[in-house]
Amino acid sequence: MSTTLITGIGELTTNVDPGSDDPCGTVLDAAVLIEGERIAWVGPAADAPRADDVIDAAGRAMIPGFVDSHSHLVFGGDRSAEFEARMAGQRYAAGGIRSTVAATRSASDAELRARLRGFVDEMLAQGTTTVEIKSGYGLTVADEERAVRLAAEVTSEVTFLGAHVVPAEYAENADDYVDLVCGPMLAACAPHARWIDVFCETGAFTVAQSRRILDAGVARGLRPRLHASQLGPGEGVRLAVELGAASVDHGTYLTDADVAALAASDTVLTLLPGVEFSTRQPYPDARRLIDAGVTVAIACDTNPGSSFTSSMPFCIAIAVRDMGLTPGEAVHAATAGGARALRRDDIGIIAPGARADLVLLRAPSRVHLAYRPGVPLVQRVWKDGAAVR
Ligand SMILES: [Zn+2]
Repeated sequence: MSTTLITGIGELTTNVDPGSDDPCGTVLDAAVLIEGERIAWVGPAADAPRADDVIDAAGRAMIPGFVDSHSHLVFGGDRSAEFEARMAGQRYAAGGIRSTVAATRSASDAELRARLRGFVDEMLAQGTTTVEIKSGYGLTVADEERAVRLAAEVTSEVTFLGAHVVPAEYAENADDYVDLVCGPMLAACAPHARWIDVFCETGAFTVAQSRRILDAGVARGLRPRLHASQLGPGEGVRLAVELGAASVDHGTYLTDADVAALAASDTVLTLLPGVEFSTRQPYPDARRLIDAGVTVAIACDTNPGSSFTSSMPFCIAIAVRDMGLTPGEAVHAATAGGARALRRDDIGIIAPGARADLVLLRAPSRVHLAYRPGVPLVQRVWKDGAAVR
């Protein structure tokens, strides 16, 4: 197997043995040896082993590829007019999802696939080497099955989100829709998915409905995750903890009881800074979470309604500027935190045996990701050991 040594790395974020004064497990003047798809060695450049190829990083910073653990990339249509209206003062509500449902149902497989692949490429160019992708804009058995099947073409982290919103045709009998989700829709989607998710929120699904759906998914071998406390406080976070969900996402409105429950669990709280940015909601206090001992992740929640960014650096910048994370904590949350939210130990770290998913920044430090918002700082990207950018 051929080897590549990347040496002259000024600041290497390994996320190995992170501590409160250095959440990133930093190694200065470092080198990384890639062998095939994996990392074979990490250490000081002065001690680096020989390799077939050598790349000089010229003092730049390297971080693990971003792990974006929350996205909705299979959809049709455009909601820029809704965004424009919202910026002019209109409130965000969960019902806007239905307009994307209509556009998605009428799109061809080829249209959805081309768009999906375009988003994955766009993410890769910005340093995202792993992305979780949810269904949730089909809301019929056939359309949800199509969404998870297309998502499975581009990622192994596929989430069945038939319970994204109650579709218009079931508006008067939501429990019948829950029966459909737990029955034939789940049966059709489970073979393509690893995860099951529910939008547990006023205007979407109740706690009781969410519990039924997640239980049904677990019985089919899927693992639970949850959207909760985005639009107001609720019991969703505690449900996620009770069910041992890998992650509960949003957490814009958290009570003290929510924070305590998260801190006593291994459920990750995934922050979605693009959502608060794009909906003008208040930012959650991530400092409070870290100080309480909660594991946090950062994800983009790329979707046409509430957060149409695919940029992890942009979300890191917001988390630092408006949510109270340090740059190191934010980078850790966007890499190792995302990996934890997907229960993966082979990504989000730079260590021997991990997948060689690496990002070389056009900057001397990861701090620049927050310090230089909006600037394209991703210089090179390796995915599974292959240079893709
Ligand atoms: Zn979402």
